[in-house]
Amino acid sequence: MSYKLFIPGPIAVSEKTLRAMTQPMIGHRSPDFVALYQSIQPDLQALFYTQDAVYLSTSSAWGVMEGSLRNVVKKKVLCCMNGAFADKWLDVAQRCGLAASGLRFEWGQPIDPAMLRMELATGQYDAITLIHNETSCGCMSDLPALMAVIREFPEVISIVDTISSFSALPIKKDELGIDVMITGSQKALALPPGLSIFSVSKRALTRAATITGRGYYFDFIEFQKNHENGMTPSTPTISLIYALQSKLADIKAEGATVRYARHARLNQLVRTWALAKGFQLFPAAGYGSVTLNCFANTLKVDLSALNKLLKAKHGFVIDGGYGKLKGLAFRISNMGDETDETMTALLTALDAVLAELAATKALG
Ligand SMILES: *Cc1c(COP(=O)(O)O)cnc(C)c1O
Repeated sequence: MSYKLFIPGPIAVSEKTLRAMTQPMIGHRSPDFVALYQSIQPDLQALFYTQDAVYLSTSSAWGVMEGSLRNVVKKKVLCCMNGAFADKWLDVAQRCGLAASGLRFEWGQPIDPAMLRMELATGQYDAITLIHNETSCGCMSDLPALMAVIREFPEVISIVDTISSFSALPIKKDELGIDVMITGSQKALALPPGLSIFSVSKRALTRAATITGRGYYFDFIEFQKNHENGMTPSTPTISLIYALQSKLADIKAEGATVRYARHARLNQLVRTWALAKGFQLFPAAGYGSVTLNCFANTLKVDLSALNKLLKAKHGFVIDGGYGKLKGLAFRISNMGDETDETMTALLTALDAVLAELAATKALG
């Protein structure tokens, strides 16, 4: 039953992190909790590159993604769409009963800054949703270029999903002018799922204060009020906060810059391997993610047979294509704690499995 995940979330969690989660419970209104909460703020602010508070939500990222819409959209939200998560965000906005439109691109194509400017210039919008790293197809848009466009429209509050890129490369929230920046625990942070971490600008808090129907659980104003006392609005997932504390110490020990370089190097290692095999990168050239690779299955490998063998013989699991890409593309994560050794072990196993599948095909 024991195997290791190389899918782009959830990803493998270290023994150290798992042990951190076994610490005894503390009351979430106790001084011990306040100390825990406040002890991780500076490191979180450093990773968000922000002076604003960083909030902890006991939910998966979608909770905050939906909640953000309820907190800042008054007029109409523009949803940038180029993959499964981005596409879903428009659907979520509509389910919340909000006025929303999509700026649509093919899966794997980056969001185009010029087209974004043209759409925002219509003046219809007071908010935008944008996914930095579209995990479904391994496409990373040019966030600095897109934020430069969004900053031309001061009434537009930006909600940016950095869920699968956060902590793998620098994303400078304050410098870029990101209003709401959201991540989740089970992607590049290599924690178990269940915790979403986000930071909100003063501008966005000011907007939220003027909006009715924000609800309670994801109300930004509640998060800010509780933050000022070193707490969360409702009982948080304390075990995951212990895990986060442990992970932040890991990141500090490695050094953020070394960590960013490690992700870039391992990402390239996988890409070089796959291109040499004859696979092609699925996303547009120059827009491949640094935390995962999504390859078009140009060799027409039976991906479900591949994953079955990979798991049974080597104890590894990769992803066989998200949603409509199932069977047509595959994804390999290099997030979290992976090293040159662990990625090389995976690629060596994949070599063996591909050879075995080719031999079986030749016989059959
Ligand atoms: C994983 C992911 C999400 C959704 O996260 P949940 O934890 O399932 O809510 C959203 N956006 C991106 C880009 C993701 O990779």
